[in-house]
Amino acid sequence: MSLCHPDLGNVSCGACCGLFNLKLSPKEFKTLLSERTSEFQSTVNFEVRHSFPIFRKDRETKEAGISKKDEMTYNCPFLGYVDSTKQRIGCMIHPIFTGDPKSQNFSFYGASICQAYDCKNKESLLADLWESLFVEIAKDSVEFSFLAADHIFANALEKLFSFWEISMDRMFHEFRLELMDLYRTRLLTAAEKNFTSFEINYESFSEFNALEVYFAKELGAYWKEWREELYKKIPDRGKVSGI
Ligand code: SF4
Ligand code: SF4
Repeated sequence: MSLCHPDLGNVSCGACCGLFNLKLSPKEFKTLLSERTSEFQSTVNFEVRHSFPIFRKDRETKEAGISKKDEMTYNCPFLGYVDSTKQRIGCMIHPIFTGDPKSQNFSFYGASICQAYDCKNKESLLADLWESLFVEIAKDSVEFSFLAADHIFANALEKLFSFWEISMDRMFHEFRLELMDLYRTRLLTAAEKNFTSFEINYESFSEFNALEVYFAKELGAYWKEWREELYKKIPDRGKVSGI
């Protein structure tokens, strides 16, 4: 298993299939995923090839009325719930279900893109540590997808703790509750963003000030509050002490 479908917990990610491009609330995302799943289960027959494009066309028509955050980003209707309890989301036409290695060719992207794509957080050397943290934080797969796709925020945190000369092992263990607090605040505004995981990080965060600017923009007043509390725990915070 992987960041897309963690071994632990009952959550998974579907951000790169374009879900968050739709202007919906977290509750509405879940309703949409549920509707897609029910319709898929009642209309698609894996033995009847034309039932795949009929489902796709039907869902694209139904979802065309939902406002998008970016008209150029596609949101694939084959993303739905893939377990019996409707908790984990994923590709309903993945070969693991259809038995056909090319079944994702019925989608806009096609099997080769769908199967080859790995996002930054999934590729990260720290993927297992991020995965375990996100599983612990996320209440459901919509929240987990927000967290898993948000690779710029994760990268900024890695850089932040490096500035403080705190190892990644210490960050994930000693400062776990602080990270969880920060991410729970991040989740409050996550639905406004269009996390696809394709976002390009133009900022290398090579200066501490760039991190200050980034976190203040992303977290508002909570950033300073969080940082001050953290400073109390790390008087040995390395090269940025005294800031
Ligand atoms: S955004 Fe990353 S973790 Fe999420 S499904 Fe895509 S590749 Fe997997
Ligand atoms: S067909 Fe591709 S884009 Fe669509 S849900 Fe499956 S993996 Fe995602």
